[in-house]
Amino acid sequence: MNKLPIYLDAASTTPVDKRVLDNMLPYFSEIFGNASSNHVYGLNAKKAIDIARSQVAKLINADEKEIIFTSGATESINFAIKGFVESNYEKGNHIITVKTEHKAVLATCEYLETKGFEVTYLDVNENGLISLDSLKAAIKETTILIAIMYVNNEIGIIQPIADIGKIAQEQNICFFCDATQAVGKVKVDVVADNIDMLCFSGHKLNGPKGIGVLYKKKHIALTPLLHGGGQEYGLRAGTYNTPLIVGLGKACEIIYEEWDSNILKLLEKRNEIEKYYEQNNIGIINFKEVKTAPHILCITLNNYDAEDYLIDNLKQFVASTGSACNSGLVRISHVIESINNLNNQTFRISI
Ligand code: PLP
Repeated sequence: MNKLPIYLDAASTTPVDKRVLDNMLPYFSEIFGNASSNHVYGLNAKKAIDIARSQVAKLINADEKEIIFTSGATESINFAIKGFVESNYEKGNHIITVKTEHKAVLATCEYLETKGFEVTYLDVNENGLISLDSLKAAIKETTILIAIMYVNNEIGIIQPIADIGKIAQEQNICFFCDATQAVGKVKVDVVADNIDMLCFSGHKLNGPKGIGVLYKKKHIALTPLLHGGGQEYGLRAGTYNTPLIVGLGKACEIIYEEWDSNILKLLEKRNEIEKYYEQNNIGIINFKEVKTAPHILCITLNNYDAEDYLIDNLKQFVASTGSACNSGLVRISHVIESINNLNNQTFRISI
């Protein structure tokens, strides 16, 4: 009987890759300089930040000058949305987003409503997808920003991002995409997808916590969130957190370099569980009830160690109950039941 604890919460956070940690450590000790200082300590820190910036940019097909380091996706989201509407309010006051966005987007939009902005919250269908027709129908003269996430953090659904980007571009509206659950799992390309601003976070891709990215096209004007000693082209303030930036850069480099082999691994797994799985879903395991789609739960593909156990045991569960689900989605009550059953058999899960 195997009683290994298995971590299935990669959608919430991931452990730091050993190679990432090894790269970060010297920046806590001997390479401790402030990147704003013009002596060797400062210059070494600055050099490391420049390298990290190009590693991050390469992963999403951006230019290095379009990368702004932040403290995480939450800060990036606040900065992108508030910073953009504040800089562009003379063009209009309408924002379009989706009811199933991350709280950082929804709370920011709700705050902006109290400041006189108008927000349309699009519905999703039973699989969590928005309709492009309702997006088009929601656009008005006053629409200045569309904020739609790449992959939903509760159910793993992948929105039609390139189509959304195209619609936004045709209407000359800025498109901000929260790609926190997407980067590292799907190929994110800001040029091909017509994305004007995008964010993600270090701790979702085996990098450190407390560091994130805001990508923004060069021509886009943003009002800073933080004021003080300038960094990031005057858009952010405070001393650079060099170790975390180095860690994030390394995590991005690893994903970029190992993309082909990981994708192959993923495809093999997908074939194995094809009958539970939809192509437009990255697979997230979620033990919470999803407010907007309470029946949906998907199988994680984020954690390779856990997959074999999970897949084998779910197969057994489905075989014993006959409740196989061809759509790629499994009813939440069934899975919770299956996990309770498995608890005594092969593995233990802390929820
Ligand atoms: N957006 C999405 C889709 C997320 O899943 C998360 C993390 O849960 C966030 C934003 C917030 O990320 P961070 O913890 O870096 O602030």
